[in-house]
Amino acid sequence: MPDAVDLIRTKRDGRILAEADIRWLIQAYTDGLVADEQMSAMTMAIFLRGLSPAELATWTDAMVRSGQRLDLSAVAAPTVDKHSTGGVGDKVSLILAPLVAACGAAVPQLSGRGLGHTGGTLDKLESIPGWRSAISPEKFIFLLKNVGCVICAAGADLAPADRKLYALRDVTGTVESIPLIASSIMSKKIAEGTDALVLDVKIGSGAFMREIGPARELAETMVRLGADHGVRTTALLTAMDIPLGRAVGNAVEVAESVETLRGQGPADLVEVTLALAREMLALAGIDADPATALSDGRALEAYRRMIAGQDGDPDARLPQAQHRQLITAGAGGYVTRLDALAVGTAAWRLGAGRARKEDPVSAGAGVICLAKPGEPVEAGQPVLELLADDPDRFGRAMEALAGAIEIGPEPRAPRPVVLERITG
Ligand code: URA
Repeated sequence: MPDAVDLIRTKRDGRILAEADIRWLIQAYTDGLVADEQMSAMTMAIFLRGLSPAELATWTDAMVRSGQRLDLSAVAAPTVDKHSTGGVGDKVSLILAPLVAACGAAVPQLSGRGLGHTGGTLDKLESIPGWRSAISPEKFIFLLKNVGCVICAAGADLAPADRKLYALRDVTGTVESIPLIASSIMSKKIAEGTDALVLDVKIGSGAFMREIGPARELAETMVRLGADHGVRTTALLTAMDIPLGRAVGNAVEVAESVETLRGQGPADLVEVTLALAREMLALAGIDADPATALSDGRALEAYRRMIAGQDGDPDARLPQAQHRQLITAGAGGYVTRLDALAVGTAAWRLGAGRARKEDPVSAGAGVICLAKPGEPVEAGQPVLELLADDPDRFGRAMEALAGAIEIGPEPRAPRPVVLERITG
């Protein structure tokens, strides 16, 4: 039997781990036979030394095999999913899943909760009265066949190695490693059983990756892992230096998603959603125009069925925060900067996000960006609206926003949201 300490020394010294040793390590860690402190040392060694492409392929495969790979063969439509590396105001999944379903694909989206300044899709959907994230495997398949899209919580058996490893990395300073991020994301998506996958890798202050170079490397790594496992994968690199759309929070993001499905969405949100939808449909082999499905109400209809399929009431009034506070422009001119990280941190401090995974979130809390970069403002005009259930939260949220808004005499040149496309 391999010895965990020998394997740690191998990676610490920059040597290559044998395939059988990687498989043993991941399974033994999942089964509790390798201790957290040993895996912490290993993840730090990987953080510092990296993994070769062959080691990474084995590491990811071992994570997939630590649990069950879902079998979606009962679903006749081509299956295609999307994963975003997370950003501020990123409510794209709520619009995209029903939009792509309305065009004829099936979207199986196993999703997570938010931690830190980026919100989780499940937290957003849970602000809809009645909606439930936990569904049985039978219901998952039933909804995929009959509605065409499901967004729900991943079961405990989906890549359990990642569940343990991610929690460990979170407290050992080893999250920001390209091989560890790529294997974590792709093991879950491969285990989900989808035929194809589109990745939205975000770049900018509100994202994991601040620079285009590492974001490109992460995207290329994940696209290759997808191909190795028979999942056709494409990635878009998209800007996350300013919040996406105007709403940041839970219920407020659901409301903005519904407005977008009604054809009244903000331009940046529509641009990213349609770009991702086109990639998903291309991978699924479906020749359809998602812009038409968005404007003619078919995507909205699919959304309503998706929500009702999980016991949510799409017509129910969404929770509202009890207190609001406005931040106004100090001078007239044009908004030239609105920092995504600052707005995400403010929304989090207002109660929309959680610091520890067991914390509750406030459905109504968040931030509305009343003016965004490129838009004119007059002195004293509201730029941000802060929403909270507890007024004591406003002070810390305001601190996060210090220096986050810049106003200048000239409008900034419009910048594209979709920056690059990476294919296998
Ligand atoms: N999201 C994941 O699922 N895993 C990571 O390691 C980082 C982001």
